[in-house]
Amino acid sequence: MAYDFDLYVIGAGSGGVRAARFAAGFGAKVAVAESRYLGGTCVNVGCVPKKLLVYGAHFAEDFEQASGFGWTLDEAQFDWPTLIANKDREINRLNGIYRNLLVNSGVTLHEGHAKIVDPHTVEINGERFTAENILIATGGWPQIPEIPGHEHAISSNQAFFLKELPKRVLVVGGGYIAVEFAGIFHGLGAQTTLLYRGELFLRGFDGAVRKHLQEELTKRGMDLQFNADIERIDKQADGSLKVTLKDGRQLEADCVFYATGRRPMLDNLGLENTGVKLDKKGFVEVDELYQTAEPSILALGDVIGRVQLTPVALAEGMAVARRLFKPEQYRPVDYKMIPTAVFSLPNIGTVGLTEEEAREAGHEVQVYESRFRPMKLTLTECQERTLMKLVVDAKTDKVLGCHMVGPDAGEIVQGLAIALKAGATKRHFDETIGVHPTAAEEFVTMRTPVAG
Ligand code: FAD
Ligand code: NDP
Repeated sequence: MAYDFDLYVIGAGSGGVRAARFAAGFGAKVAVAESRYLGGTCVNVGCVPKKLLVYGAHFAEDFEQASGFGWTLDEAQFDWPTLIANKDREINRLNGIYRNLLVNSGVTLHEGHAKIVDPHTVEINGERFTAENILIATGGWPQIPEIPGHEHAISSNQAFFLKELPKRVLVVGGGYIAVEFAGIFHGLGAQTTLLYRGELFLRGFDGAVRKHLQEELTKRGMDLQFNADIERIDKQADGSLKVTLKDGRQLEADCVFYATGRRPMLDNLGLENTGVKLDKKGFVEVDELYQTAEPSILALGDVIGRVQLTPVALAEGMAVARRLFKPEQYRPVDYKMIPTAVFSLPNIGTVGLTEEEAREAGHEVQVYESRFRPMKLTLTECQERTLMKLVVDAKTDKVLGCHMVGPDAGEIVQGLAIALKAGATKRHFDETIGVHPTAAEEFVTMRTPVAG
């Protein structure tokens, strides 16, 4: 049977655009449907605008520290609407670039909500198109627990478009988004409380990293409340929010921001018309080739709930395009040693195993740690300290993990990730000449293990 398309991609986000462009480049006839914004979460309400806001927030400390270097500034003023308008302009520009990327690579773009009506047919804007393969790349959506008054809370989707900077913000959650946005609001001058239900935020990150960030944020005056959970939110006559915690305490805020994870975006997608199965957490179940239980339907990115990061969705998109249309170039995605950064202030950068994971996996572990005051701060009042940590297998000398909390941690860890991927040993680190004077050189000058 002749289909309208070889591949119909639903969702023009990180993974969908990558798969579509490469598939078209390999000669396939490809369409992409997008219901909201070209570039998906990352470009519109994720990585990109988030990083721009983090840069904005960072200026607060730059201004503070400048006096140590002889600069005098009149009192710095910050204007939220200007930052948001400039951010929006940049995102519009990126939307245009994504449109050109798709069109110039020969992909047909359908703007609207796509619904699968049978395993080879998609309906969009009242029209039906057939395809040999359908790729679900619909991403995720913020999930807010349905406590009384949850409708008064916002998620990251709204945070990027607030009309004004709230004076008092309560951020709920202890993952990437909560920690990053708490840093943004705090840096920009809002009175910020981070509320997390567990003992210590960033579950899954190295213990020393979590503790170090806790100390640094506390030093900066952020209010961290752990073992705390919200029971209800009530809107008061003056528009402010009264938040009642499960332990009976009450807090007041102008904005309650939930960052409590993301669900797969499957709304009105028509999966009931297919044999696609979901896993226990509700994400689309796929095998190692991104194949769902329905032979003609594949899925990738956040909607499969593996590793919710843009570079991972990109790698999966590439793998799918190659597998379908250039099998001789197919290489599976390697999920080991994925580097990642949390753009908190200060940043976290990490790659490989945490000390806890290494021990649990049965490695005999050597740990190297360095804590120091960055050189840039020596002329300032700022007491911020950087943490660097290496987790090494004592038997093989292999470096199992690198972790950092400090300025530019994400930038530094990207390079280290290549070394770890190539199987670097501690001896390789020791024999590498440092770049002086940098913070990064500390990673090649740690000589004495702190714990065996
Ligand atoms: P998405 O990018 O979400 O794209 C899915 C697209 O499908 C969307 O455009 C959506 O509108 C569209 N769609 C959904 N349903 C339909 C339908 N039925 N019909 C048509 N179109 C549809 N990752 C990083 O690596 N680094 C970061 O710094 C980072 N920061 C983040 C900050 C925030 C606040 C958030 C929320 C996420 C962040 N992420 C970050 C994660 C990253 O954004 C995601 O992992 C990535 O966007 C996933 O790509 P995707 O292709 O799976 O889905
Ligand atoms: P995460 O899964 O990272 O964190 C969710 C947090 O919310 C956890 O601390 C979790 O606690 C808590 N939580 C979950 N449910 C509840 C609840 N019912 N009540 C109270 N707290 C709850 O999700 P995020 O929303 O922060 O981000 C989604 C994903 O997006 C990230 O995992 C990451 O993959 C990606 N992302 C990446 C970024 C980057 O690369 N810099 C930046 C932003 C997002 P507990 O730990 O106890 O389960």
